Amino acid sequence: MTARSDSERIGFGGASSGGGFQLDSSPLLASSPVELSDTHRDDPDTVAELWRGGKVLLVDEYGRTPVDAEGSLAWDAPGAVGDGTNAVLLGLHQGVARWGVRACARDSELLWSDLRVLGDWLGDAEAGLFATAVGLLAWHDRARYCALCGAGTERIRSGWARRCGGCWHEEYPRTDPSMICLVHDGADRVLLGRKAGWPDERFSVLAGFVEMGESLEGCVRREVCEEVGVEVSDIRYLGSQPWPFPRSLMVGFAAVADPEAPLHPADGEIAEAHWVNREHVRQALETNASVHGMRLPPGISIAHRMLRGWALG
Ligand SMILES: [Zn+2]
Repeated sequence: MTARSDSERIGFGGASSGGGFQLDSSPLLASSPVELSDTHRDDPDTVAELWRGGKVLLVDEYGRTPVDAEGSLAWDAPGAVGDGTNAVLLGLHQGVARWGVRACARDSELLWSDLRVLGDWLGDAEAGLFATAVGLLAWHDRARYCALCGAGTERIRSGWARRCGGCWHEEYPRTDPSMICLVHDGADRVLLGRKAGWPDERFSVLAGFVEMGESLEGCVRREVCEEVGVEVSDIRYLGSQPWPFPRSLMVGFAAVADPEAPLHPADGEIAEAHWVNREHVRQALETNASVHGMRLPPGISIAHRMLRGWALG
C-alpha cells in the first residue's frame, strides 16, 4: 500500500494556531448522569424491589434495541419481560432502576436499532444506559464458561459478575483499553488514515489496542509508528469514551509529528494516509458528508469530538 499524494483530493494547508486544543465537548457515552448502584447489587430484597419498580431495555445479540414512534428507547415494564433472572442492573436514573435483558428482535413488532445509529439522537443518560446494556450483555454471552476450569458460570451481583459452579472463581466485566490519537503538525495539518477494508472515502485519526505491559503513551508511539511510519512527540491526554463494540475504552490523545517525514502506511492495515488541512476538516465536519474526497467519523465517536476540537477550537 502506498499513500496517495494527490493534493487536489485532500488539501494541504498553511500556517495557523498551535496544538493546545481540547475536545470540543464531552464525548457521547462518556458523560452519563446515571448512578451506577454498586451498593444495591448484592441485597436480594433491594434487588427484587428495584426489578419490580424498574424499566427494562431489551437488547438483541446484534446490540439493537426497540425504538418507539418518536425515536426514543422503548423501555418495557418488568412484568412484560419475565422474572429478571438474567437481567443486568444498568443503574438508577431519575430514581428508577434501569435493567438490560437479552432478547430477540424477531419477537417484536417494533423497529430495532443500534447504538451507532441512535447515539446522536439520544440524551446522555439514555445513550449511557444503552451503551452499558450492550457491553454488559455481550460480556455475559462470552463468559458463560469458567476460564480456569471450564465449568459453567452463573450471573451474580445483579449482572456485574459471574461465579463458576466448579471452582467458585469470580469473573468481572472486562474493558479493553485502546488508544486513539490525533496526530497534527503543531500548525494547520492533521494526519488521517483509512483502514484497509473501509469504504473509499472514510478517514479518521489513528487508533489501536494497548498491549500487555504497555503504557498508554507507549501505545500511542508504537501504533502511530506501526500504522504510518512516523515518530510522534508532545503526547497529551484529551479524554476518553466507553465504546462497547464489543468492550473497548477509547483513550484519546493528541501528538505532534513532522509533516515532512515520509508516510509508510502499514501494508494490509492502513490503505492510505494523508496530511489534511484544517479548512478541509472543518468543511467535512460541518457538512457531515464526503468533502474533498473524505468522510469523517460520526458525531457519536470520540474521533469526531477530537477532530472538532482541533479544527474548530
Ligand atoms: Zn472454574
